[in-house]
Amino acid sequence: MCGITAFSGKEDALPFLLQGLSKLEYRGYDSAGVTLVDNNSLFTLKTKGRLQNLIDQLDHDAPTGLVGIGHTRWATHGIPSNLNSHPHTNNNNTISLVHNGIIENYRDLKEKLLAQGYTFKSETDSEVVVHLLDFYYHGNMIEALKKVINQIQGSYALCIVSTLEPDTVYVTKKDSPLVLGKSEHASFGASDIPALLDYTKDVYFIEDYEIARLCKDKITFYNIDGNEIYKKITHIPYDSEAAQKDGYDTFMLKEIHEQPHAISETLRGRIENKERIILPELDVLKSRFKTFNKAYFIACGTAYHACLSGANILERLTGIPTSTQAASEFRYGDPIIDEKTLCIFV
Ligand code: GLU
Repeated sequence: MCGITAFSGKEDALPFLLQGLSKLEYRGYDSAGVTLVDNNSLFTLKTKGRLQNLIDQLDHDAPTGLVGIGHTRWATHGIPSNLNSHPHTNNNNTISLVHNGIIENYRDLKEKLLAQGYTFKSETDSEVVVHLLDFYYHGNMIEALKKVINQIQGSYALCIVSTLEPDTVYVTKKDSPLVLGKSEHASFGASDIPALLDYTKDVYFIEDYEIARLCKDKITFYNIDGNEIYKKITHIPYDSEAAQKDGYDTFMLKEIHEQPHAISETLRGRIENKERIILPELDVLKSRFKTFNKAYFIACGTAYHACLSGANILERLTGIPTSTQAASEFRYGDPIIDEKTLCIFV
């Protein structure tokens, strides 16, 4: 996972871009970077390591700009390094982009782009997207984005700035998180709501394959056909403090302390006479699942470990042989699945 921020407003973009990234640090990352649109040129600074490294370098060399994008990277393709950090720019430095996710077919696309004369500076999958945009851009970014979305496979949240439309950030997504926010003075984008809440509580949720155009005074949404669509604002009723670490030093500590509350919330309405937990759904499990003869839990990390325990319980309750698979292996492996296989993705 990584973090993305985007800003188009009447004030300097950098404070939001950096503050937003710091609110997203809990997601984990190995490098950080920003692009600012400064006097119709793009200023990009990116560096391996902590966000503070980037902030220290910007302190010496801080540009201004009312429009910009930011990124904390969790490397999937190419080692953590300055060059592989995001943002990535096209060859004549007129388009800059941050990407969260994985472009599965980047090798094919890269070969085609190399054949067209594009040069690559990084080892990332993400860089193909900025060159593809360059290839398809003929004065209309929405049209170029539509073509890019048709070409790329995988998961992505993308934020794009360009000297060709210096007041605007374009964004789109598929299977990667992205939320947008609007205040009187600016439009914002980020991977998660807490990054926005110090600036606005009015957010828009963008769906897969939709495109949004962020300008200082409004956000316009488009569907995959490029037609404008209407979106409702959602008002978030809590502040960023509440959405953050709740006074604990780390998220892990906060989550450990939250466990009694989380468990009692989960079991609310299912505790009988303060002493017995009733789970009536489990009584019918055996008959509801009788069409299956095999079950998989598919998960990563701590969820994988929870599923090891879950598989044991499901097998006991249903009599269906159940195993747990690491999602990364399942995704690329060749699991034996038919209509009698139950797959539970956690
Ligand atoms: N796949 C991209 C890379 O390795 C983006 C990773 C991320 O989501 O941070 O640069």
